[in-house]
Amino acid sequence: MSRFMVKSLQTLKAYTPGQQPKQGEMVKLNTNENPFPPPLSVAEVAANKTNLLHLYNDPTCGKLTETFANTYKIPKNQVLFANGSDEILAFCFLAFCEKTQGVCFPEISYGFYEVFSDLFQVPYEKVPLKEDLSIAHEDYFEKGKTIIIANPNAPTSLFLPLSSIEEILIKNPDNVVIIDEAYVDFGGESARVLISRYPNLVVTGTFSKSRNLAGARLGYVIAQEELIQDLNTVKYSFNPYNVNTLTQALGVESLENELYFQDCCQKIIDTRCYFMNELVKLQFHVLESKANFVFTSHPRISGEALMNQLVARNILVRHFTHPKIKDFVRITIGTQEQMELLIKNLKEMVEKDHA
Ligand SMILES: *Cc1c(COP(=O)(O)O)cnc(C)c1O
Repeated sequence: MSRFMVKSLQTLKAYTPGQQPKQGEMVKLNTNENPFPPPLSVAEVAANKTNLLHLYNDPTCGKLTETFANTYKIPKNQVLFANGSDEILAFCFLAFCEKTQGVCFPEISYGFYEVFSDLFQVPYEKVPLKEDLSIAHEDYFEKGKTIIIANPNAPTSLFLPLSSIEEILIKNPDNVVIIDEAYVDFGGESARVLISRYPNLVVTGTFSKSRNLAGARLGYVIAQEELIQDLNTVKYSFNPYNVNTLTQALGVESLENELYFQDCCQKIIDTRCYFMNELVKLQFHVLESKANFVFTSHPRISGEALMNQLVARNILVRHFTHPKIKDFVRITIGTQEQMELLIKNLKEMVEKDHA
């Protein structure tokens, strides 16, 4: 650290992204990306837009917003795009998290919530999970702070029903409740259907997981118009051109390939079902998943050993050191072939351990 770093940020612990090895070196099941590339037409669209790169991009994301609004049947003024949903979350922290009130989120959840709290100097409370790692929604009643919940939660993959989200909204009428739906397309149910009834609801989402576009950086937020205006005030005070020309075009093309999108999601859901069944046969404990990853532990092999032994077999998965989840690994659902290969390796590991 230089001696010029501002004092307030000198102890900031930055977010650590998952490893990105060189292409083809490893079977990569550690960062919840989609195993399938975007549809071919997406590449063509991007190539056709390069002749516009000397001009600034549309700061309103006009065409993208319109296409999204039509696809999801919501009014145009209830949606805003940004450079990944991480940036959306940053805007939400700036717009909706009072330093005097603070923010709360599950003790085990997406690591960025804590990092943003530190970066923006908002005090935070981590709300414990239940013994089975699910969210106790009653613990979020009358909090008097902004609430952030990933649904499905990460890395647990568990889904909280909309009825519970609705109770949280009702019990916190004077605070914003942010539902981070990065994984909702893999079998969950989106809270966007509640937007018209709850002026305190903010739903965030991303094209990184279910829409095969992690590297393009595209996230969105859905909320009532007034909240979107607040977020726009933050955006235009920070970076009006946050979604580049190519990414805007890619987003439109993705939305126009609805069948490809649904087909990819279905394949991942089917493969998840196969993979979970096979894990259970090998005596793994697997949490119910509504995401494109599973969270699993084995009675005889520690989480760290699982990760390390798999790395030695050129397969990357994610392990977390938090004491409550240290026995687990988080495994992204890849292609059917990748998951069959993983099962073959896990079988060898379990048998070897038994011998
Ligand atoms: C991946 C992820 C995000 C970030 O998505 P980007 O759009 O790629 O920034 C946000 N929240 C959760 C829970 C995630 O897992």
